[in-house]
Amino acid sequence: MDGYAVRHTDLAGASAKSPITLPAAGLLPAGRAGVNSLRPGRTVRIMTGAPVPDGADAVVPVEKVAVHNGEVRFTQAPRPHSHIRQEGENFRKGERLLAAHTLLRSQEVGLCITAGVPRLTVAKRVRVAVLSTGSELVPPATRLRRGEVFDSNRPMILAQVEATGAVAVDLGTIDDRVHKLEERLRAARRQADFLITLGGVSAGDFDIVKLFLKSHRDVRLVQVAMRPARPQAFGRLGRLFWYALPGNPVSAWVAFDQLVRPLILRSQGHQNVVRRMRRGVCTSRVNSVRGLVDFVRARALRSGDGWRVQQAGPEGSSNLKSLTEANALLIVPESCERIEPGESVTFELLADKPETERAVA
Ligand code: AMP
Ligand code: MG
Repeated sequence: MDGYAVRHTDLAGASAKSPITLPAAGLLPAGRAGVNSLRPGRTVRIMTGAPVPDGADAVVPVEKVAVHNGEVRFTQAPRPHSHIRQEGENFRKGERLLAAHTLLRSQEVGLCITAGVPRLTVAKRVRVAVLSTGSELVPPATRLRRGEVFDSNRPMILAQVEATGAVAVDLGTIDDRVHKLEERLRAARRQADFLITLGGVSAGDFDIVKLFLKSHRDVRLVQVAMRPARPQAFGRLGRLFWYALPGNPVSAWVAFDQLVRPLILRSQGHQNVVRRMRRGVCTSRVNSVRGLVDFVRARALRSGDGWRVQQAGPEGSSNLKSLTEANALLIVPESCERIEPGESVTFELLADKPETERAVA
């Protein structure tokens, strides 16, 4: 605190009616070793961040005193230790500051430096390449012609990759020709640890991932018992992990969120890689498919000490708008065909928008 360092016993009984005046001896700015000790019956001007001299046991803020001709007038008796930071006040030698596998956010970085830890062992950020496939895909900001679709997946999945702390590598967009895929696979093997391809894994005549995998058996086409995002492929090409996700935007988003994100997080040293499952009461009717786990875009609201959950908008797997309105994924188990209002459900909270209730200008 900017003020005057004192021995609190020198000011015992000081008040507005009977002030005590002490001669000021010296000046203690921050950043210097400064005066080593304070003699009894004296005070010294001290700045925030300066070391407190031996003998001084309180600092009186500059606003609380009057200074005249090198004499400082005190009208209050300070409490001992007031306005002084004690050594070891925040943590002690030998105390554990951070557990292993802790994510280093800005706060943790600051704490380590405060404790004089100059070096930390950290997990490597993995490199995750993202490739869109589809002859219909065009970049945003052009006019759509008949038959064209904006490539929304690639920027979206790249952003999801970045949110895991991994390094996102943009491999662009290719049309539905297998040799194009082969070329980008070579680039992915040079540049990345993981590859995510988007589209081309379903039953169409030009589904190039599927065509390519006919002759590459180490990457397997699979039907995952989930909705959306049932057709997928997964495997390794040498050291490269390849996740092939379907092209419908919500399918790609959900498959990344549920299957790829935990893998990336785990490979970067995180231990808790899945979100907490919560229970709530469903307030809308939700259709599901028996035999598949349904991930339904939902809005969860706290009510009392529980949660109320309702479907957020239409469920089509191209409908990103309802995904933007969701703050939760409602998880409907394989055995369930339909949820009626009032039934208890399981859901995961997604990171919500900071100001969902306020209108955006
Ligand atoms: P696919 O999985 O390749 O059969 O694609 C399924 C649907 O998703 C099709 O309607 C595609 O046009 C659409 N789609 C595929 N890739 C993308 C993408 N990158 N961005 C937006 N829509 C896509
Ligand atoms: Mg396609």
